[in-house]
Amino acid sequence: MSDWEADSEEDGPGGAAPKPSRALPAWRPATEAASAGVCENRAAGGDKKERGDGWKGRPRQGLAREPWQSGPLEYRARGSPGGRGRESARSPPLCFHLDNALVGTVIGRGGAKIKELEESSGCKIQVVRGNCDAEIKIFGGNDKQTKAKMLIDDLVERSGQSNSGEKYEKDSFKHQHVGTTYCHASRSGALMSVNNNPKQSINWTSLRENKAKYEAMKWADLPPIEKIFYKESPNIASMSQDEVDRQRKENNNITCDDLKESEKRRIPNPICKFEDAFQHYPDVMANIRKVGFQTPTPIQSQAWPIVLQGFDLIGIAQTGTGKTLAYLMPGFIHLDSQPIPREKRGGPGMLVLTPTRELALQVEAECSKYSYKGIKSICIYGGGDRKGQISMVTKGVDIVIATPGRLNDLQMNNFINLRSITYLVLDEADRMLDMGFEPQIMKILLDVRPDRQTIMTSATWPDGVRRLAKSYLKDPMIVYVGTLDLAAVNTVEQKVVVIPEEEKRAFTRYFIDTMKSEDKVIIFVGKKLTADDLSSDFGLQGIPVQSLHGNREQCDREQALEDFKKGRVRILIATDLASRGLDVQDITHVFNFDFPRNIEEYVHRVGRTGRAGRSGEAVTLVTRNDWRIASELIEILARGNQVIPEELISMAERYKQFQLKKEMEKDCGKPRGRSWKNA
Ligand code: ADP
Ligand code: MG
Repeated sequence: MSDWEADSEEDGPGGAAPKPSRALPAWRPATEAASAGVCENRAAGGDKKERGDGWKGRPRQGLAREPWQSGPLEYRARGSPGGRGRESARSPPLCFHLDNALVGTVIGRGGAKIKELEESSGCKIQVVRGNCDAEIKIFGGNDKQTKAKMLIDDLVERSGQSNSGEKYEKDSFKHQHVGTTYCHASRSGALMSVNNNPKQSINWTSLRENKAKYEAMKWADLPPIEKIFYKESPNIASMSQDEVDRQRKENNNITCDDLKESEKRRIPNPICKFEDAFQHYPDVMANIRKVGFQTPTPIQSQAWPIVLQGFDLIGIAQTGTGKTLAYLMPGFIHLDSQPIPREKRGGPGMLVLTPTRELALQVEAECSKYSYKGIKSICIYGGGDRKGQISMVTKGVDIVIATPGRLNDLQMNNFINLRSITYLVLDEADRMLDMGFEPQIMKILLDVRPDRQTIMTSATWPDGVRRLAKSYLKDPMIVYVGTLDLAAVNTVEQKVVVIPEEEKRAFTRYFIDTMKSEDKVIIFVGKKLTADDLSSDFGLQGIPVQSLHGNREQCDREQALEDFKKGRVRILIATDLASRGLDVQDITHVFNFDFPRNIEEYVHRVGRTGRAGRSGEAVTLVTRNDWRIASELIEILARGNQVIPEELISMAERYKQFQLKKEMEKDCGKPRGRSWKNA
């Protein structure tokens, strides 16, 4: 799975780094001067490493030109085909032709797909583009070649884009072994003709006409779904409209809507007590009593009656407001109440898609904590033990919590049956889109029955999430908690320190030195390298820290989080990998060493503290390089009635002036590119 942490250096305003200031700030202890100097030198070295010939600077191998450029091209994912591995040297390559319109599907963005195919099949795959079609050569042993071919078949079939006027025939497109005259067996075992199959055209009109019929056939053998499990309690049913409105307003301003386009349905009244939703489900109630929760959170109070009535739901609420239980509790009941018993369904009944491994593990932990009637769950994520995950899945589980990349991999290789899913959750949908998971989600959902119940959660409601909701939810109801504008959690005091870049480390050290013994802080940084660098600095200074970023081994990431959760370390240095969804209740401080890429991420970071009704503090270092975000940050601070530093206001003002001047210069045709310092 790819990580989204920034790896590249972003130029500061005007591309100029601010001048190092020699003066030590008042808070900086004298002994820090030397160590801060060391830090600065190391940081400079670190930057060089990142841009230079370290692991990040390795030259890209193989891709001589982008394969989708015109002209006869050759794509090699790694090394030269046939040049690696004894098997490939022995067996002649399996060759076939593929329409140019379909080649992109096999190659993937930047060659990612072909790399994945190579890894899954153990073959090397070469693509040589011609004018109309491309020749695909698969190098490897016979079994592996067949596997690679099958994977490509599936991929092209799934892409559903055989609309170039030529037919993509899974088992009948031309393929042969180079240098031999024999043909290669297809998946169905039939021998293929080597060449010159006349191209057939597809009757698209008839296909379209039959689409509904085929869809119905595809899902015909599935059992019916039971979705309605709500019996409204008399005190909730008898609430007047005024009471309902008041209850919603007082509960963080809940607003709801029915997105069904034709006649609107009655939106169920919000519940007040856990019993209002679960009085008929004593096992759920026992779980709630066990953890000692007092009242449902606002999102739960409105989401539970909607979901238990079988409607699809979009839940938009800030982080830390209990969205996980909002979908898990009704999910448990749904799973356990289907007409076909769990063990006879031939696969899992609930699927939760989450953007990151950490979040998947966290949802899984929540699932296990509220154990319900022996329901089994499994977490499937890239970087985890693939074999172990496959073996767990094949043994039988009820709930799959997965990141889209790894699940798609298991799905493509037929290790998991998704046809039995009747309850689907797209958790943190906004984040999944940010991370580019839409294609994988699309493929996964092709195999999930369309009449399922679907729940989607998100902290924000941008266009992409709306589109996703329109495509994958059926007549959903939507529940917003709070406003849809960005608002950092109101239980967090937000402090902003405007500071020169080179003084950030010393200030951070000062902050750590003044931490109380019960404090727990996440220090957010912009780059993986900074995380490593800071943590080794602090380690050398005898300060116990853990770090979390995408270049760490999965087991180290899990260990880091575990150490932090359990309080074995009280400082976690992390990239934005940790900014969303992670729930560590006793974090007292969020410390933004680097300002995040955008203001949304700031809100998510701040939301790591002040969770479940506690208060927290966020300290954010802002340098002159961050002047672009000054005005947005001011808005967030103002909305939360926080102190706004004068320097931040003047920074925002300078940036506005700078923008104005740039506009004017553009209009007058004057040369551009003046430094911000002159603005
Ligand atoms: P979100 O998904 O909205 O970011 P989570 O579902 O992770 O938030 O919940 C945050 C924390 O609040 C979790 O530790 C969870 O156990 C706790 N929580 C959930 N529901 C309640 C409740 N009704 N009362 C108190 N705490 C709750
Ligand atoms: Mg969540």
